[in-house]
Amino acid sequence: MNIILFGPPGAGKGTQAVRLQKNHKIRQLSTGDMLRGEVSSQSFLGKRIEDILDSGELVPDGIIVELIESRLQDSDCQKGFILDGFPRTVPQAEALDEMLVKWNRHIDHVIVLEVDENILIERIKSRADESGAARSDDNEDVLRHRLEVYHNQTAPILPYYESKGLLRRVDGMKPIDAVTEQIEATLAAKAAA
Ligand code: AMP
Repeated sequence: MNIILFGPPGAGKGTQAVRLQKNHKIRQLSTGDMLRGEVSSQSFLGKRIEDILDSGELVPDGIIVELIESRLQDSDCQKGFILDGFPRTVPQAEALDEMLVKWNRHIDHVIVLEVDENILIERIKSRADESGAARSDDNEDVLRHRLEVYHNQTAPILPYYESKGLLRRVDGMKPIDAVTEQIEATLAAKAAA
């Protein structure tokens, strides 16, 4: 089973992706985690993208597509995967389609976590306070910019998956367990259809 999770920054995609990984024994792939790993190891790529991550802008499509294309071919992704943070632009979605066609694989579910953005900003602020801003992009100005980037560059992908009949909307403002239940119900409903 292959899943894409969409939702603005702070919507809880990571939390839900970890649960899906555990419940369905499929691999979570968070491009944000992969990129932060590059930055913290100060790799060649990490040094190149550090400022981009801090600003809330997107890393160039070519870099991300290469990372994902290589990762999806690993053995732990063969049973299924959850894409958390990818695709984020129309060209990324097109590149994903091309890879999947090449490998004779497909996306089974596309889930969007819908949230109230004012509440989201409060959530991010408290995450920054609790973690002592462990993430350098966890502050209000950068979050507002990341929301803008989501609306301008990522949300335009949704109609594409909607037109394929794959998109399901979930209320991301509910408590974490209730969101998980909604996601699981969505997966089960489609499996039964
Ligand atoms: P996230 O943890 O998914 O919120 O991602 C953190 C940051 O990593 C984003 O603000 C971007 O700078 C970068 N990033 C993550 N995924 C992508 C992607 N698919 N395309 C471009 N940049 C990305």
